[in-house]
Amino acid sequence: MNIDVAIIGGGVSGLATAYHLRNQGRTVCVLERQVRTGGSAISERMGGFLMEHGPSSLNITAEEATTMSSRLGLDAEVRNLSEAVQNRYLVKDGTLNPISIHPMGFMLSNYLSPKARLRMAAEMLISHRASGPEETVAEYSNRRFGKEFTDRVIDPLVGGLYAGLASELSMAAVFPKLAEMERKYGSLVIAVLSRWLQGGKAPMRRLFSWKDGVGTLPSALAKSLRHEIQTGVVVKRIHQKPEGFRIETQNSGTIRARAVVIATQPHVAATLLEPLDTDATEAASNIAAPPLSVVFLGYKREQIAHPLDGLGYLTPPLEGRSLSGALFGSTMFKDRAPEGHVALSAYIGGARAPGLAGLSQPDLIQMVRDEFGELLGAKGDPVIARVRQWPRGLPQLTTSHKARVDRLNGISERVPGLFLSGNYLIGPAVANCLRQAATTSQNVETYFENQGESRADVVENLMQA
Ligand SMILES: Cc1cc2nc3c(=O)[nH]c(=O)nc-3n(C[C@H](O)[C@H](O)[C@H](O)COP(=O)(O)OP(=O)(O)OC[C@H]3O[C@@H](n4cnc5c(N)ncnc54)[C@H](O)[C@@H]3O)c2cc1C
Repeated sequence: MNIDVAIIGGGVSGLATAYHLRNQGRTVCVLERQVRTGGSAISERMGGFLMEHGPSSLNITAEEATTMSSRLGLDAEVRNLSEAVQNRYLVKDGTLNPISIHPMGFMLSNYLSPKARLRMAAEMLISHRASGPEETVAEYSNRRFGKEFTDRVIDPLVGGLYAGLASELSMAAVFPKLAEMERKYGSLVIAVLSRWLQGGKAPMRRLFSWKDGVGTLPSALAKSLRHEIQTGVVVKRIHQKPEGFRIETQNSGTIRARAVVIATQPHVAATLLEPLDTDATEAASNIAAPPLSVVFLGYKREQIAHPLDGLGYLTPPLEGRSLSGALFGSTMFKDRAPEGHVALSAYIGGARAPGLAGLSQPDLIQMVRDEFGELLGAKGDPVIARVRQWPRGLPQLTTSHKARVDRLNGISERVPGLFLSGNYLIGPAVANCLRQAATTSQNVETYFENQGESRADVVENLMQA
């Protein structure tokens, strides 16, 4: 097969990259090792429950996601976060504490000690840092808000969003907007207060999904690309040739393409890059993605004492618990559980406890049942229990990540025609994968144009064909 671009990996990143390139008039082929596309974005309906084995929601402010949803004709299926979500909970001393997302509400609550709240308020007086070595999220947060806020708020948040540790992740890589707010306003408290006073919406209302879950997005992309996807194809090696690339597969022969996009997890990218470029190989191998498990439990409503009136809960690592947290799926979005039932998902592992994610499924289920019993007052057997174990969970954007990404992106200069897309470049959120896919497809297009072939030529060739 001779095509313009072969895309290795049929997760959100690979599918979206292929979608853009195909729409630019390129012949593309997505090669996916699994029998299904979508990668880690898997939504499954069973017995009236909707289980999210991977991503559970997207941020509505991420334009890439809402625009792609509209382009795929999914607007009627969009579901915003339910009004039933009134709280976010953080665990302290074995109980769930509702956390106000309004700055004043948070300052007046007793979740943090009076000393820690005073230290937080002092953030306004701390001058911004003009230069210095790259900071971890914990270093940044300790400097601006104090250690108790870091340990009790930021560390659990980082665990929930990135399955990582605040002491390891790079502030500039995971919270670039907050880092920028410090530069712009001098103080984050002032920045947040000024936005809030201007009527900015509370972040907890900004999440969305689709009627049948986040898996709707890759399914719609795959439907649009159905003639351009080969599933069950494991790519083993990429050979660079004068006329382009020869892609060797384990089970489907050889595919020839003028350009290649590697859109796999970073460890697979490292293996595929190895014969082609040492620099990018080393950079990709240094991106860890510790194992992560998701345990889904469905109960009858009356089995759970807690009102479940929130998004879910997060647990600070210093609480010494096994779970990083849980989402109240049936509160977040309507129709996630049959009438009179509730749907809950627990997250175990990541950088905090990689060893726990690999426990046996019965042990994981028992661990979650015990914790739900203690924290949510869950009683009796769940009506449904499912476990999804991800041997490689979320990529960890640790310090020096930007330098790593520069070395990775340099591949296209060192091996012309070879490009990368994926959740380890800008960040793991689905919206970031979509943003990276748009950038990568544009870079591929520029490569073809620099070869003397304009987009107009491609369209004309297509019209004549
Ligand atoms: C448990 C969990 C919860 C999450 N929650 C959220 C959330 O709430 N919101 C959010 O925005 N994001 C969330 N994320 C992150 C987001 O889901 C992922 O970052 C994103 O889906 C990754 O997409 P991707 O295409 O880059 O990678 P993947 O989905 O990993 O896809 C890579 C694909 O490459 C294929 N592949 C690998 N090797 C080969 C080979 N040799 N040949 C051919 N194909 C190959 C794989 O089979 C896979 O399909 C979550 C992720 C996980 C795991």
